[in-house]
Amino acid sequence: MQGRPRNVPFFNYPELFARQQPEILATLHDVLSRGAFILQRDLAEFEANLRAYLPVKHALGVADGTNALQLALLAIGCGPGDEVIVPAHTYIASAAAVHFVGAKPVLCECGPDHLIDVDSAQALVTKRTKAVMPVQLNGRTADMERVGAFAADHGLAVIEDAAQALGSRFRGRAAGTFGAAGTFSFYPAKVLGCFGDGGAVVTNDDAIAERVALLRDHGRNAAGEVVAWGTNSRLDNLQAAVLNLKLKSFDADLGRRREIARLYDAGLRDLAQLRLPPAPASDRHHHDVFQNYEIEAERRDQLKLHLERLGVRTIVQFGGKAVHQFAGLGFEGVCLPRTEQLYTRLLLLPMNTTLSDDDVQYVIEAVRTFYRGADAR
Ligand SMILES: *Cc1c(COP(=O)(O)O)cnc(C)c1O
Repeated sequence: MQGRPRNVPFFNYPELFARQQPEILATLHDVLSRGAFILQRDLAEFEANLRAYLPVKHALGVADGTNALQLALLAIGCGPGDEVIVPAHTYIASAAAVHFVGAKPVLCECGPDHLIDVDSAQALVTKRTKAVMPVQLNGRTADMERVGAFAADHGLAVIEDAAQALGSRFRGRAAGTFGAAGTFSFYPAKVLGCFGDGGAVVTNDDAIAERVALLRDHGRNAAGEVVAWGTNSRLDNLQAAVLNLKLKSFDADLGRRREIARLYDAGLRDLAQLRLPPAPASDRHHHDVFQNYEIEAERRDQLKLHLERLGVRTIVQFGGKAVHQFAGLGFEGVCLPRTEQLYTRLLLLPMNTTLSDDDVQYVIEAVRTFYRGADAR
């Protein structure tokens, strides 16, 4: 490769701050001078913005994406004795949320799109199955027509884990808005990230919205009266104000992610050793937001090392293990061969809005030199 190794970090938090420093500081200053921290105006504004953006009838800011899933599950009455089908290719939080409401996560395979495999889910339905949790991983929404038909056939609720997919669409409809409830995470590295933990539950169902509103604030109703058991899971006002600011450039940010995905696709698609995510706009039914650019690669571990030597930081998502591959969680004996095979090949290339076109070209060239070297041997 030409020139000196370049440093392409996987994510660049300081740069994200530097880029918007005056606006961010003014936003924080405004909230701090008003002394408005919990369940205040900025949160109400953010919830209204989120409702309008998707669109959806109700949006409730909560402590984080994991809490969002737990509250959504509690709000549909999911608990002990129930089973929830979850794809094994997801963050541990999806399954943990099911565990912590007292239900049992039942893990299914994912398909070639890395999203829930409905046929595999179908085979796992029992009398106890209460819900299915499609995970809109990497910023792509599953085929929600198939998921919806499957859920309707078996009388299951759909709780969408859309933590990675704010702004993603399937047939024009936004991730998070298909089922009984959908959830988002505003963890700093997510497509819409705050400066700490944050999350939201969205729903078109009035009763579910009301239950989540009670659950997140100690069971207190609008008058401040305790009318049910609840807990403390609120999106704080400072984070909500930051999210309101970041929403202003959100569409531009998503556009940049899709442009980076297009560059990766153009630069890598001829390599037989790789399997790339579908290119942006390659399928009119899917509008992807590329939370991640997750490829499959031959000789993945060697490729990762090669890229590291050239200053390119990559990640194998979720610590390189599918949910059932973590010991001690009760998944002994669970066998999901397609997901296990996939986990020997998965790799995330850098994908974030601080990357320049030159950074992306550098990553592309670094990947190409690896397989050129392999061909030469
Ligand atoms: C990030 C994430 C979560 C959890 O969100 P937190 O805000 O970190 O609690 C859940 N599911 C998936 C798929 C995620 O990527």
